Amino acid sequence: MKPTEQKKFDKALFQADVKKHLSATYAKTEETADAHAWYLAMGKALAEHTTLDLLQTENDDRIKNAKSVNYLSLEFLIGRLTGNNLISMGLYEQITEAMAELGQNLTDLLEEERDPSLGNGGLGRLAACFMDSCAAQEFPTVGYGLHYEYGLFKQSFENGHQKEAPDAWRGVEGYPWEVARPEFAQEIGFYGHVEAVYENGVEKRKWVPGMFVKGMPWDLPIVGYESNTVYPLRLWECQAIAPFSLESFNNGDYFEAQHALIDSGNITKVLYPNDNHEKGKTLRLMQQYFHSAASVRDILRRHDEAGHKLADIPKYETIQLNDTHPTIAIPELMRILIDERDLSWEEAWEICSHTFAYTNHTLLPEALETWSESLIQRLLPRHMEIIYEINHRFLKEVRSRWPGDVEKQRKLSIIEDGFHRMVRMANLCVVGSYAVNGVAALHSELVKRDLFPEFNELYPTRLQNVTNGVTPRRWLKFCNPGLSALITDKIGDQWPAHLEQLSDIAQYADNKAFQKQYMAVKKANKQRLADWVQENMGIELNTDAIFDVQIKRLHEYKRQHLNLLHILSMYHRLKNDPTFDMAPRVVFFAAKAAPGYHLAKEIIYTINKVAEKINNDPSIADKLKVVFIPDYRVSMAEIIIPAADVSEQISTAGKEASGTGNMKMALNGALTIGTMDGANVEIREEVGDENIYIFGLEVDGVEKLKASGYNPFDYYNADHLLKSSMDLLLGDEFTPGEPGRLRAVYDSLLDGGDPYLCLADFASYVEAHEAMDKQYRDQEGWAHKAILNTALVGKFSSDRSIRDYVNNIWKLEAVHR
Ligand SMILES: *Cc1c(COP(=O)(O)O)cnc(C)c1O
Repeated sequence: MKPTEQKKFDKALFQADVKKHLSATYAKTEETADAHAWYLAMGKALAEHTTLDLLQTENDDRIKNAKSVNYLSLEFLIGRLTGNNLISMGLYEQITEAMAELGQNLTDLLEEERDPSLGNGGLGRLAACFMDSCAAQEFPTVGYGLHYEYGLFKQSFENGHQKEAPDAWRGVEGYPWEVARPEFAQEIGFYGHVEAVYENGVEKRKWVPGMFVKGMPWDLPIVGYESNTVYPLRLWECQAIAPFSLESFNNGDYFEAQHALIDSGNITKVLYPNDNHEKGKTLRLMQQYFHSAASVRDILRRHDEAGHKLADIPKYETIQLNDTHPTIAIPELMRILIDERDLSWEEAWEICSHTFAYTNHTLLPEALETWSESLIQRLLPRHMEIIYEINHRFLKEVRSRWPGDVEKQRKLSIIEDGFHRMVRMANLCVVGSYAVNGVAALHSELVKRDLFPEFNELYPTRLQNVTNGVTPRRWLKFCNPGLSALITDKIGDQWPAHLEQLSDIAQYADNKAFQKQYMAVKKANKQRLADWVQENMGIELNTDAIFDVQIKRLHEYKRQHLNLLHILSMYHRLKNDPTFDMAPRVVFFAAKAAPGYHLAKEIIYTINKVAEKINNDPSIADKLKVVFIPDYRVSMAEIIIPAADVSEQISTAGKEASGTGNMKMALNGALTIGTMDGANVEIREEVGDENIYIFGLEVDGVEKLKASGYNPFDYYNADHLLKSSMDLLLGDEFTPGEPGRLRAVYDSLLDGGDPYLCLADFASYVEAHEAMDKQYRDQEGWAHKAILNTALVGKFSSDRSIRDYVNNIWKLEAVHR
């Protein structure tokens, strides 16, 4: 890693560059330019530098001759790049000054950038943190994703209901940080048929696609923290070429291709807005194959151009699959090696099975991908043949390991039998990968115990754990400059690249002066959020109140409705129990619901309606406010997280694979209230039981309760506070004149069977909140705990996650530039 000072920054030259782009690229004069034009011109001027470094990194022979990781993900939730890149380039202060001299305020200009929201939530954000950490530590990396025209929808509320609008994230002028790489474009086929051709008497299979599209790559620069290394995040855009191949088609293909044309130009139009839920739509499979095929070809192009042999692919390349979404890359590489590069099956399998590694992100059955065999057959006929052959050979192995055990074969088969035969993508991944990992210790154990126990017997070293992490550059240094300065003042400025150093802060946890400074920073961050809420939502907030935060996708398993029950219980007590007292509290939510997820949208509506009533009830006054911030996205998280006192991580035990929001908030000094789920378990291990509030059933308790026949009515009828809180949803308390309008949530928790056990965990949840409330009234004790949270979560840097991948899975070396 090179020190910052090696970047020679010429202020006058930079200012001239900005002015040049303002006029030559964006056709504005300094007099007519608005903040948006200045932001674009500044972005372009900065991107000139990162593009040069990108090219130099790409052409560095040491990198060509080193092993690289290719990170394949359908989602990269990168957030705004400008501010973060300035931090990585070590130019934040210089650019602030340079722009000020041009009459521009940098903070305002940064607000002009629209988030590239090319992902749904945690999975996409993880991919972005991983790219940052690979670049920071200079492990050779190429990220491969899709260049969606529309990212995740924009969310607004209309009378409390979620409304979705398209997110044209590039704006009319285009995104200043991206650069087109037409020289690396690829042609990708779909549909068609497979022909047998004979070469020297040997049968060869040849796929003749019925239509082709073009994959056009756009590179976004991933700038290494304080280094000259810039890796590409290569995003493929689908463009239509000739309507279809005229070279060879039969009538069936012709009509197929004509029909498909309607979709072909649309393949990368829009990001599917489902989080942890797969729907099996044709266009989604087309996106997946388009992404995999373009990426695999680009990897082979780089490999060939570096002069390496095919057999050496595993020596120079590893391909990490972020969930099963890019699984089709496995049969695609097999197809190319066998059909186009003339390798034998055995040679091709030897390569493939040592190249791919797979990260599992979920145990939720509705999120485990299966694709109908007939759809794959139609869309990718040659790939279906290859999947059959992989399965055939794999089942032979199963039979020799467990002779006569038909049940084992049925369970492990890549093809799920039934009326509609389905391809199980996770099984294909485990069979085709040299390593499979879960994303937190608990999750990885459940992957072994519940999801893939037989695979674990068959391949005892394949299943591993890599606990997730977050980049401390974006999630502390950039988003919380106040706390960052305080930390640097105490322990120096090396912590953003060595987060374990934060433990040196622990010695100040009882230092009264430090506590004061720490809490003053928190207060200022709360004020910044309160100002945002006042300005954008017209709600006035008391910054002495507990800022209680739940920000994540809206999902039943994440249990925003359990949080709602707690709010209802506080409201009920404030209204009905004169002896009840509590510290003032603001409960924040931010969450998007998948547009087709009806109950999730009802939960949003219910919270909004409850908020409206509570926030305007003079008898409640400052005691309780509920704020549902619209359009949750990375740039919003950057404002909310530094202001959080309480971090809500309350999923049903066993359902949240890891979580990363939990890590971001603990790092910024929020105390977690959470279940023994995902990475909460490891956060507790790090910060100590005294500094976290754990409640609720654990995994075995959840299993036992479900097995014994869980009846939510038992809890409802036995717990007076619970019943009174829930019954508030029955009348028209929150929807005047419309009684019963909030019944959907109520019904899901009772007649609906409460599948995520909100009622079973309610009493324990309320008790944990009461303990936190009591602690908050002792501000010194609270400061002590908050400081220890910041100090003791260094483990959750994504730099550590990436080192785990590098040491235990990828086995590659850093190349320092
Ligand atoms: C971190 C992050 C997430 C993931 O949050 P979880 O609480 O782990 O589900 C989702 N969306 C955004 C914008 C994030 O920054």
